[in-house]
Amino acid sequence: MRFEPTEIARLYGRSRVGVVVHKDLEAVYVNDAYAKMVGRRDVKDFMSYPDMHQYIPPSFHHEAAKLSQNYQKSSGFHGWKKVYNIRTDGTPVWMEISDETVEWQDGNAVLTTAQVIDNGTTAMQVDHMLGRSFIGVMVHRNMSALYVNESFARLMGAEGASAFMENPNILRFIPEESRPRAIRHVAAILSGERRGDRHRVRDILDDGSSVWRDLTDERILWHDGKPAILTTAHDVRDEVEMNQQLVSAKASLEQAVTEVIRMVPSAVAMLDGDLDVIHYNHEFARLFGDGKSDDGEQTFDISALQECCETMKMNGHGHATLDEMKTPSGRMADIRMNMMEGGGVMVSASDITDHKNKEQLLDTLASTDALTRALNRRGFESAVSRLREIRHLKDKSWIFGLIVLDLDHFKTVNDTYGHAIGDRVLEKVADTLRQALRDDDLVVRLGGEEFAVLLPSATASVTKRIGERLANMIRDIEVPTDKSGKENVKITASFGATVGGEGRQKFIELSEAMKIADAAMYAAKEAGRDQMIFMVGDPEANS
Ligand code: GH3
Ligand code: MG
Ligand code: MG
Repeated sequence: MRFEPTEIARLYGRSRVGVVVHKDLEAVYVNDAYAKMVGRRDVKDFMSYPDMHQYIPPSFHHEAAKLSQNYQKSSGFHGWKKVYNIRTDGTPVWMEISDETVEWQDGNAVLTTAQVIDNGTTAMQVDHMLGRSFIGVMVHRNMSALYVNESFARLMGAEGASAFMENPNILRFIPEESRPRAIRHVAAILSGERRGDRHRVRDILDDGSSVWRDLTDERILWHDGKPAILTTAHDVRDEVEMNQQLVSAKASLEQAVTEVIRMVPSAVAMLDGDLDVIHYNHEFARLFGDGKSDDGEQTFDISALQECCETMKMNGHGHATLDEMKTPSGRMADIRMNMMEGGGVMVSASDITDHKNKEQLLDTLASTDALTRALNRRGFESAVSRLREIRHLKDKSWIFGLIVLDLDHFKTVNDTYGHAIGDRVLEKVADTLRQALRDDDLVVRLGGEEFAVLLPSATASVTKRIGERLANMIRDIEVPTDKSGKENVKITASFGATVGGEGRQKFIELSEAMKIADAAMYAAKEAGRDQMIFMVGDPEANS
């Protein structure tokens, strides 16, 4: 159909239907109604800047240009469609338009009629609300973009929305390995089978660089009446980088912790919130290890520690200690536990076995006599109090027999055979006493050649019997006077004995009993030596 400008003005000039004739998207005629629809004051105002692009959302520039070229090459009526345009004030206007190829002065042009419709749809809303947003917005379907705003186009490395839409295929931005999943994801949202959500993806841009994005997908109804996906995107490159830095900082911190744990001499382990060992050093494995699992991992027996941790947590305490704990390896250790943020526990343990052994050795040295290895007075006293404790005999009433013995004429032994032989005799006497007695009985060297024997639980008759036996055994002692072994030293001893915990001495103190036994021993010396005198109460009451 051929139109003259004057003819078209006569036909449509006053029409309420908007009419615009354009060539290569440049208006060559517009009526008043159309000019006003897109926000122009009047025809003159419209024609002062006839470029139609300004009214078309950039996302559709490319499509519009292609269509107009096609129409110009063909002829006839091209049907109705709904589009939205952008008014000069930036607001969108939804229109129903028809396009028709017409012959214009120098070649074909497109005549577009337009009527405003006000049931705006999502497409318009999208552009209205998000067209100028700094958040990237894209509407797509089947891996092809239907709409993008400027921000999205630039996120993807395009110059603008129009340039982006020249190649609306979006599959190319998705890394090869993620494509099947992305396609499934998009299909599921389109079908309504799943709701869109926020997820983090890595996009590959046309220049080959890759960028991290947070995407949010939402199913919308596009203006063709079919569902599409509205995707908003924002660049999280900085966020991802920061996160990666954090992750690596955490990793190196953890490495440092592991290294420190490895280096400290005491046993150290870190337990997680479930009280499982996550870091440990060699020393810890030595104290608490109980072998290896099938896959070669060190396993631990830390049930005692876990129990203590639970109590610590339950009581809301930040730390706990376990002193002189026997570890699964049989070592003795002092344990310290500290709660860490997040429910983990730091455990340190020092092996005090050697220290304890040394302490015990020192204790033994301090409490025993070096020559005879019998208890000295100090050792005797602590042994007695330990004994009373063990037997819960805190009250004064406890049964014991006490024998004091002093070697007869020992000075003569020294004088005759020398001090060294005298020492052998003393050793032999102590050995003999120990051999003759039970483990619970205490042998003490009171001084010089004077010993005492405490017999826990022994009654008077038992004490007397044991005293006689000791006297016999001492009489049997033979200490060779030289290496030939031809001549032996023979000795005897004088014995004084008493008891505690029964009869008149039911509540007697040990020190008191000691005095009585001592007196009895001197009485035995007086009476001619090599004999035992049993005494209770006053010295007259002997038997
Ligand atoms: P009595 O029968 O009266 O007890 O006569 P005794 O000679 O045993 O008594 P006395 O107390 O006069 O002598 C004790 C002697 O024991 C004196 C001392 O030389 C000796 N003696 C004391 N301690 C030791 C020791 O550790 N080694 C040796 N070889 N002799 C000691
Ligand atoms: Mg003596
Ligand atoms: Mg003496």
